Amino acid sequence: MTTQSYGLPVPEPNALTQPFWDAARRHELVVQRCRPGSHLFFYPREYCPVCLSGELEWVAVSGRGRLYSHTVVNQPGDPRFQSRIPYVYAVVQLDEGPRMVSNLVDCAPEDARVDMCVAVTFDDVTPQISLPKFRPA
Ligand SMILES: [Zn+2]
Repeated sequence: MTTQSYGLPVPEPNALTQPFWDAARRHELVVQRCRPGSHLFFYPREYCPVCLSGELEWVAVSGRGRLYSHTVVNQPGDPRFQSRIPYVYAVVQLDEGPRMVSNLVDCAPEDARVDMCVAVTFDDVTPQISLPKFRPA
């Protein structure tokens, strides 16, 4: 992770994750799918976690889902996030199935509710990196 001008750690794409970050830069949310079984999954992997196929492709998803779980962070593990507290660390279940760790934004932390409908929004934090986050929908 580097902080660049954003002031907070940002992802450093590698060969495996670059397509995800390229799509995010276009404000498109993608996950991997195996060709033999059409299994969708996230986070990025080299093999399908269901059928172990290495024949994978990236596919766009709707960006819509539900808040599967969350917690309000008041004491960040990394002191660089101190300026952002309180914030909502969220696990979102996408309508297509995979779960994604992100932040819930545009929502007071006390208003976050499990199973609430959310939709992706992109935070352009550097010229190269747009972070997918979720807001109430
Ligand atoms: Zn599979």
